[in-house]
Amino acid sequence: MRLDVVTIFPEYLEPLNVSLVGKARARGQLDVHVHDLRSWTYDRHNTVDDTPYGGGPGMVMKTEPWGGALDDILADGYETGSSAPALIVPTPSGRPFTQELAVELSERPWLIFTPARYEGIDRRVIDEYATRIPVYEVSIGDYVLAGGEAAVLVITEAVARLLPGVLGNAESHQDDSFAPGAMANLLEGPVYTKPPAWRGREIPEVLLSGHHGKIARWRRDEALRRTTANRPDLIERCDPSAFDKKDREM
Ligand code: SAM
Repeated sequence: MRLDVVTIFPEYLEPLNVSLVGKARARGQLDVHVHDLRSWTYDRHNTVDDTPYGGGPGMVMKTEPWGGALDDILADGYETGSSAPALIVPTPSGRPFTQELAVELSERPWLIFTPARYEGIDRRVIDEYATRIPVYEVSIGDYVLAGGEAAVLVITEAVARLLPGVLGNAESHQDDSFAPGAMANLLEGPVYTKPPAWRGREIPEVLLSGHHGKIARWRRDEALRRTTANRPDLIERCDPSAFDKKDREM
């Protein structure tokens, strides 16, 4: 997968060299290009923003640098053989970023991110590229960050771990919270490792039983307990008949 990020703070994307994403890059599973938006400014002050039409506080990112950057990235990508790019526009007014959307993005070969600053990007930029490539306006939560770079890191990490061969154990994301399947819409319950006792706290006995059915049932019950406590909205979406069926199979 190819990733391009255009930003006025390229150094903010340094974490893309670390851990899972960094290793995926080193193995050639991810081809990451971070670009400085100011490279597409042609005035003495490398200006990327201006005052908003209609007045109001804050500044708006200008069309010209973004247009120049996106045109050049698309041309370069096509020249080097990339195809089917999609534009990912982080914005608090976008559609919520969910595991389902992470899966959808992980199936695309090329993502171009436009993390903004100030009050965001002049709308005409998004409208212009929406006529050429798919555009996803994405929010990582109901709060406002100072800039979209942190959102790019969040989205990239969630997407990268779904790419074939990136996680050590390909099955490990299948048991995660939000994963599709029998536990869909349930948060993952607690997890434990050695030693079996620590500061007087013992792990639940069932985990030592070796009985796969009982362990699966315990995990499901813990997931239900945790989801009920932390995300009652998700419980509403669960299908109880799927649980009953699973119980009969145990
Ligand atoms: N005026 C904008 C609004 O109220 O929708 C907020 C602009 S915010 C200060 C600057 C930039 O940070 C946004 O354009 C976007 O790139 C990024 N950003 C802020 N919050 C975000 C969120 N929840 N999800 C994704 N990106 C976000």
